[in-house]
Amino acid sequence: MSFNIPTQMRALVLPEPGKFEIQTVPVREPGDEEVLCKVRAVAICGSDPEVVRGGLAGIWPPSYPFIPGHEWSGEVVAVGKKVIDFKPGDRVAGQAHCGCGKCRNCLEGRYSICENYGKPETGHSHYGFITAGAYAQYEVYNQKSVNKMPDSMSFREGALIDTAGVALHGLLLVGVTPGGTVAVIGPGPIGLLTMRLAHCLGAARVIAIGRRSRLEAAKNSADIVVDFEKVDPVKAVREITGGVGADEAAECSGAAGTFRQAVEMVRKGGKVTLLGVPPESLLEPMPFKYIVHNEILISGARANPNVSDKLIQLVASGRLKMADLITHTYPLEDFATALDTFVSRRDGAVKVVVEPNGAEK
Ligand SMILES: [Zn+2]
Ligand SMILES: [Zn+2]
Repeated sequence: MSFNIPTQMRALVLPEPGKFEIQTVPVREPGDEEVLCKVRAVAICGSDPEVVRGGLAGIWPPSYPFIPGHEWSGEVVAVGKKVIDFKPGDRVAGQAHCGCGKCRNCLEGRYSICENYGKPETGHSHYGFITAGAYAQYEVYNQKSVNKMPDSMSFREGALIDTAGVALHGLLLVGVTPGGTVAVIGPGPIGLLTMRLAHCLGAARVIAIGRRSRLEAAKNSADIVVDFEKVDPVKAVREITGGVGADEAAECSGAAGTFRQAVEMVRKGGKVTLLGVPPESLLEPMPFKYIVHNEILISGARANPNVSDKLIQLVASGRLKMADLITHTYPLEDFATALDTFVSRRDGAVKVVVEPNGAEK
């Protein structure tokens, strides 16, 4: 297979905090451990609007100009000298985190909490946040941060692997009780995928907690929906479970008050996984004694280490459906409309996908 790799490409560039433009920029050559990919689909992440807005300027990204984007799929077009597992033509899905590979956490496979976060000289990258990302026609990625996907999987589905990975990692950190009940707070994209994956992992019953149109949309992913504007969600989950509480609760909203609700809606010995990213300033009052006396296990969950291959198999086998979560697609040149559609949740937008090289035939 031969590919014609141009020297220039179109990319979404943030020239300074709060500004974005589609520009023509050089295509980077892959380093020894890197692959150059033609980006076929990029999903807008809940964190992207903040990065584009410049609300985290100096951290995400550390400097300008910058190309954001990290939930993507595409095809390999060139590989570095030390890349042996990938070749031009491979279909791949990307993941945002690339650990240094040397620190204690990386050696234990926990590279999304790499001790060398933000130090590129150690080999660490966080694509789309501190390292150039995927809203571009081409993208250079470390070979550790891409996973092969079969021909049967669409590029659009591939762009959701990073998102679904957050959900799967969060559930795996606490485990899912076979035949048990999982309560999921926050029916956004990660919440919906958490519901579907809880089923894949053996939960008999999934309860979605949310409100309005997003809760309505959760009916495809959960067995029971609870509207927190109408009823107390803790009471509702306790009632549904005969007073016992859910086996596991997943907090996927990052909103005020929901952490405590998650803790109070699980059974004695229950587990809580926190996937939603709250604002820095949010501090939660907690039922300290209740947590101690009931041995409630609580875990934070960051990103998606070591789950992409598992997810690709779940999607390829038909056990995990994701395609219906993509409600809108746009070419890269229409990024402004795509972003606005996502942020304002226009026409029931759930996942909005940008295609820098056109739609897959
Ligand atoms: Zn993301
Ligand atoms: Zn590391």
